[in-house]
Amino acid sequence: MKAPKYSPTWFPPDQFKLGGRTWTTELVHRRGQWAGTCTPSHCRIRLNLRCIESDEEMRHTFIHELLHAVAATMGWKSFYRNEGKIDALACLLTQFEATAVWRG
Ligand SMILES: [Zn+2]
Repeated sequence: MKAPKYSPTWFPPDQFKLGGRTWTTELVHRRGQWAGTCTPSHCRIRLNLRCIESDEEMRHTFIHELLHAVAATMGWKSFYRNEGKIDALACLLTQFEATAVWRG
């Protein structure tokens, strides 16, 4: 087994709430070509460190899955399934998160 090539310095929240339901985020090392999954029935996001190679990619993958979670919470089924829109929005929000300068 190969050692992981990337050691994260940015981490997603372990837990957060959306619409009163508590979601958890798990970091896993799984075989397969998926970087993240969203499972609304378990209020769970998984990020696969075997397929993530940088903090930027970690942030992007988390925000992408978070948007699936938001869509599921809102009952927006077609948005939930629209990978193109979810990912385009994730790109912009990742850029925002990485570049925002907050007062103080
Ligand atoms: Zn997706």
